[in-house]
Amino acid sequence: MSRIKSRNTGPEIAVRKLLFSMGYRFRLNGKVSKKHHPKGVLPGKPDIVLAKYRIVIFVHGCFWHRHEGCKDAVLPKSNDDFWFEKLNKNVIRDRLVVSELIAMGWKVKIIWECELITDLNIIIERIFNEPD
Ligand SMILES: [Zn+2]
Repeated sequence: MSRIKSRNTGPEIAVRKLLFSMGYRFRLNGKVSKKHHPKGVLPGKPDIVLAKYRIVIFVHGCFWHRHEGCKDAVLPKSNDDFWFEKLNKNVIRDRLVVSELIAMGWKVKIIWECELITDLNIIIERIFNEPD
């Protein structure tokens, strides 16, 4: 299993490559210009930042971020209290970050790792077209 905030994971790269090939330009790991945030980086360091559209994308691992109802988010049978507590911290932090970003006027899109087996084009389409 990977670290919580592993960078340059396969799924994330696939999403980036497709966005790029579709002509979208973006920055990585929450980096933005100072006009978007005085620190030059957004809360939670979203994996992909489409500043022009004011969209940020997180590519979340289902286990680490507790994708609700997802078979990949099932806790290990041993030590389940430990995992519950540990992963719940991630979930709480995720929620906090999302509300901060929304308050700053960003649209926050989550791509779950388990979704990446479907056609990536459909996922990208959803990101740009789903109602806020
Ligand atoms: Zn999932």
